Amino acid sequence: MDIKMIGVLGAGSMGNGIAQVAAQAGYQVVMRDIEDRFVENGLKAIGKFLAKSVEKGKMTEEQKKGVLGRIKGTTRMEDLKDADFVIEAVFEDLELKKSIFKQLDELTRPGVILTTNTSSMSITEIAMSTKRPEKVAGMHFFNPAPIMKLVEVIRGVHTNDETTHTIMEMTKKMGKEPVEVKKDTPGFIVNRLMIPHMVEAIKMLEEGVATAEDIDKAVKLGLNYPMGPFELMDLTGVDITLHVTEYLYKELNKESKWSAPTLFKSTVRAGRLGRKTGAGWYKY
Ligand code: NAD
Repeated sequence: MDIKMIGVLGAGSMGNGIAQVAAQAGYQVVMRDIEDRFVENGLKAIGKFLAKSVEKGKMTEEQKKGVLGRIKGTTRMEDLKDADFVIEAVFEDLELKKSIFKQLDELTRPGVILTTNTSSMSITEIAMSTKRPEKVAGMHFFNPAPIMKLVEVIRGVHTNDETTHTIMEMTKKMGKEPVEVKKDTPGFIVNRLMIPHMVEAIKMLEEGVATAEDIDKAVKLGLNYPMGPFELMDLTGVDITLHVTEYLYKELNKESKWSAPTLFKSTVRAGRLGRKTGAGWYKY
């Protein structure tokens, strides 16, 4: 199938970044969220990112206009009816994702590939809410999507070779580097490695081993990582990180390495941390 139009569900941090990446690669994009204000915020974020790219000389004003012109924001699910490919990036909630895939299955043409940007959840379970599980896969972008190069392409149990191949090729067309995750395992590759590292960092903070700032500094200078675990949690959203941690704990046999420390849960529940409040671990 010739892919011209991409449907993106969710205009939040990931959805708007993915819509931008797709439009920059020349695709027409329909980006859907549930309320006008979320759609507008998503479009504003894209406009801001592109304006900075123009300022830095990475893009011309004409190119910016071209990219923005290819993105249509909407609150109407029906506007995704003619999409040739779909990327879902709504809240990390399995039941919500399943209900969206069921709707997409009824709305889009039968051959259309449906992908999810879930950070950890079962691709197979999401796929089984459709009548085309062979056409469903994970397409896991990283935050911020316009900058981060990696996309994990995750096969569900039923995903076929043609679907996987099409997504891998499309990822490259979007200027990204795909890796194929052959088994539908919770957390895929990166989050399965990253979450125990974050859990251990919070435990050390809780035990008073070092400050959050010094733990980040140690990781950056000692492991040569570009960011420490606390900085990274602030960027990606502490709420999402906790959600993924609790999901991995439940799915991966309740091993202690996935067990969220009390400090992690209490800070998120008190709403003191996370990209939405603008607070950070260093203030804790
Ligand atoms: P977010 O909260 O910033 O945005 C989610 C958006 O989905 C919101 O704007 C919300 O209104 C919208 N939404 C909810 N129900 C919807 C529906 N029925 N139709 C359309 N839109 C709907 O969240 P995010 O950080 O962009 O995360 C989105 C997904 O991407 C999650 O599955 C998350 O796990 C995954 N993810 C997040 C990151 C990250 O670093 N934040 C990285 C990779 C993957």
